[in-house]
Amino acid sequence: MLRSLKEFFRGLVGPKPPGFQHLQVEITTSCNLPGCLMCPRSAWPERWLHQDLSWENFERLITALKLFRHVHLSGWGEPLLHPRLWDMAQGARSQGCTVSLTTNGMNLTEAKQMQVLEHLDMVAVSLDGATAETFERLRPGADFHLVTQQIAALCARKRSLGKLRPEVVLLFMKMQPNVAELPVFLDLAASFGVDRVNATNPDFVPNPPMAWLSLIASGSPSRKIAEVLELADQKAREMNLPFPGAAIDASHMWCKVKCR
Ligand code: SF4
Repeated sequence: MLRSLKEFFRGLVGPKPPGFQHLQVEITTSCNLPGCLMCPRSAWPERWLHQDLSWENFERLITALKLFRHVHLSGWGEPLLHPRLWDMAQGARSQGCTVSLTTNGMNLTEAKQMQVLEHLDMVAVSLDGATAETFERLRPGADFHLVTQQIAALCARKRSLGKLRPEVVLLFMKMQPNVAELPVFLDLAASFGVDRVNATNPDFVPNPPMAWLSLIASGSPSRKIAEVLELADQKAREMNLPFPGAAIDASHMWCKVKCR
């Protein structure tokens, strides 16, 4: 029976295992910020489990990583806090994967910048605002001056070392309180010398009180917002800044989960 099952699956996928593009591994659910406005950690603060993925469990994954081209070591937590992060990045690379992560940039110290340059193929920093006021409102406890200074230093360090990798990406999650700043955000990104800007949508609204942040939770974006997004696209084209586009995909999945 077991043999015939194995033969059946081999017939489906062929003698070799299938190849996949991306694997996301959440290596920690801890963060150095108490809870950004759009974060599920803010929706369930009392129930949130602050945990690191153990090295032992990561080791169990390692041989499976060769099935993937790319591994992203992030989830709802700050990956730069994990004590074995760089071992994990090396472990993924040893299986032939490219490696990336997303950080809030608070802990992107000089020492961490050197490790980022050595161990990653892409680093994304979530900034979500072009001014301290907006950024620090969305991300209580964060420091706009510190994060922007560290992003600029990372880009300068990469340039001075003549490295092509990692790709440095600046993230802007489009929300009601920040969307008007997107065009100016592109100027800021260009002044740092990042490789690319991504303007994402919050595709998960953990509970109804957080829905006000969304541009489309209550229907299509307003004409005013649509104009801002068009202006951002036009500006990126003029600056020749790699930017996949600001338009909102109305088919985005919205998950509304009530707190119990
Ligand atoms: S930095 Fe990320 S994980 Fe931490 S609270 Fe903010 S959104 Fe959540």
